[in-house]
Amino acid sequence: MTRVIHGIAELRAALADGSGSVALVPTMGALHEGHLSLMRLAHEHAERVVASVFVNPLQFGPGEDFERYPRTLDADVGLLSAEGVELVFAPDAAEMYPDGRSQTSVRAGRIAESFEGAARPGHFDGMLTVVLKLFSIVQPDVAVFGQKDAQQFALIRQMVTDFNLPLDLVAGSIWREADGLACSSRNRYLSLDERAAAACIPRALDAAEAASGSGADAVLGAAARMLASEPLLTVEYLALVDPLTFVPIATDFTGDSLLITAVRLGRTRLLDNRTLVLKAKPSGSLLLDT
Ligand code: AMP
Repeated sequence: MTRVIHGIAELRAALADGSGSVALVPTMGALHEGHLSLMRLAHEHAERVVASVFVNPLQFGPGEDFERYPRTLDADVGLLSAEGVELVFAPDAAEMYPDGRSQTSVRAGRIAESFEGAARPGHFDGMLTVVLKLFSIVQPDVAVFGQKDAQQFALIRQMVTDFNLPLDLVAGSIWREADGLACSSRNRYLSLDERAAAACIPRALDAAEAASGSGADAVLGAAARMLASEPLLTVEYLALVDPLTFVPIATDFTGDSLLITAVRLGRTRLLDNRTLVLKAKPSGSLLLDT
């Protein structure tokens, strides 16, 4: 039986009233298959699964979509119950921030200086603050996040290291729609035309992957050309970075790298990424003169 709990004290009592390892899966609700894949992953790592559903005001900037962010708690609880989630923690903002805002907050480190951190000032500080509060409230053995938000995951990993937090992190792979578009709660903002155009994003990642044997420039060129072929779509960034630090890699880099992109379709920003193993550009000197 899934229990929906709104208060911190009640959640702690429910956790104390039972035994077994605990996995936490933080979400903002408006659940889709990607979230549900994380619940299944959580069950592989712990005996008890807690999902949180909280649209965290601290991680939205002025003019962002905090007010219109979809809130579908009843439907979410139905989906979580079908996945065997034991506890759904759905606090309101006053429960999490009784003073109207958090007095003390986490300041994200260097990983947050670029890409999403640069595009959304304060976003990662707000995200890390709520994640630290959730860790403190639930005290899970394991916390599960999606690789979809790769920079977020890198920052949480850094926070767990820096604050010596006693839990393990697990990243779930990106769950995609039939045409390859990464599932996202924000996909529901897209018009039909924008939704069709969004399929260009995973195609760009595929084109990049196909070019990964030809070096970083070829990878970026292949992805950029695919994205440029879709007039409805504006690229905010497209980069190859070190997966742990988010520092852009050098053009002659070989090895594991992460291709990250953010695009805008109308008013909607969508993120995607793919891990690529870069190989050296084939050298022209290997072409033998005849
Ligand atoms: P959100 O509700 O958007 O804050 O996301 C909650 C968690 O679900 C985060 O750890 C996200 O990275 C993860 N997530 C979002 N979309 C996907 C997806 N398509 N596949 C896997 N995980 C996802």
